[in-house]
Amino acid sequence: ALILGIESSCDETAVAVIDGSATTLAARIVAQRIASQDDAHRPYGGVVPEIAARAHADVIAPMVAATLADAGMTLDDMDAIAATAGPGLIGGVMVGLVTGKALAMASGKPLIGINHLEGHALSPRLADPGLAYPYCLLLVSGGHCQILEVMGLGRYRRLATTIDDALGEAFDKTAKVLGLGYPGGPAVERLAREGDPRAVPLPRPLVGSGEPHFSFAGLKSAVLRARDSGAYAPADLAASFQQAAIDCVIDRTRGALAQCVPGMTALVVAGGVAANAALRAALGALAAQAGLPLVAPPVKLCTDNAAMIGWAGAERFALGQADPLDLPARPRWPLDDNAAPVRGAGV
Ligand code: ATP
Ligand code: MG
Ligand code: FE
Repeated sequence: ALILGIESSCDETAVAVIDGSATTLAARIVAQRIASQDDAHRPYGGVVPEIAARAHADVIAPMVAATLADAGMTLDDMDAIAATAGPGLIGGVMVGLVTGKALAMASGKPLIGINHLEGHALSPRLADPGLAYPYCLLLVSGGHCQILEVMGLGRYRRLATTIDDALGEAFDKTAKVLGLGYPGGPAVERLAREGDPRAVPLPRPLVGSGEPHFSFAGLKSAVLRARDSGAYAPADLAASFQQAAIDCVIDRTRGALAQCVPGMTALVVAGGVAANAALRAALGALAAQAGLPLVAPPVKLCTDNAAMIGWAGAERFALGQADPLDLPARPRWPLDDNAAPVRGAGV
């Protein structure tokens, strides 16, 4: 089936045409465009919701047209329209969801509202056609830090979550502390390559604790204090922060793997921070110890994109799912909240 995917929950406007019947990543992504708003938000050091919503509204319609043209297709060729319905910055979500609704109404094709986190969670299946359910998923992004058992489509069991900051948020805040600007994660990773990960003594919050939860607020404060001491080079601060964060993630993930139900096919990482090469290497070693393959999507599919939204739409379309045209946009929408979606309710 051919699915038009639309993503606008944060600061990338993205549109994709996905062929859910294809069996390779290259053939599955028929066309894909991403418009980043980084330049618009950079002066403010972070995403400004009002600016984000306006920028999505400015570009989304021409992007749909251009992506369909890239694919050599029209709306009539699509089998369904999949749009992010949450969670995220509500103004942006509404722009993409309303666009999806309008296209669905005009074309008579079904609308499928997608949980942005489900997009991230299933992106490894888009990238790796061999990845079967169930798998253990580390979801690390700008707003979320979770470990989930992905039992099947729409069947997520949360094993761990953060009690304060998300991992991407910790990278972004550290980047700010080090004056590296926005977006922060890739800048911290680049600077860390030139530093000594053992130079700065930093805490590893919650390491060794029984519950596999995360905490990064104390780590961020420790980086701030270490910077203010004046005793450390920025590259050493970046490298030591990244190492401490990775040590936490590995310890917590090891604990979660031990709690998974038997039969996990892989350890899987997704979300924007999954783009981090040092994290991927450490997770590869952990997976090998656990006797599991590590599945990590290509970097371009880790950060926000519409291919993952179209793919989640393709998986749901294959099961005959669709949503009514009054489907609400949701600023908050936990992935393991089974009561949430209003599916098949009719309008
Ligand atoms: P969510 O998916 O939780 O709603 P989001 O959509 O804003 O949040 P993503 O686009 O998935 O988040 O990821 C963006 C985050 O990933 C940012 O915090 C960014 O700093 C981080 N990130 C991106 N690349 C890297 C990298 N190479 N190393 C570390 N962090 C990174
Ligand atoms: Mg972004
Ligand atoms: Fe995201």
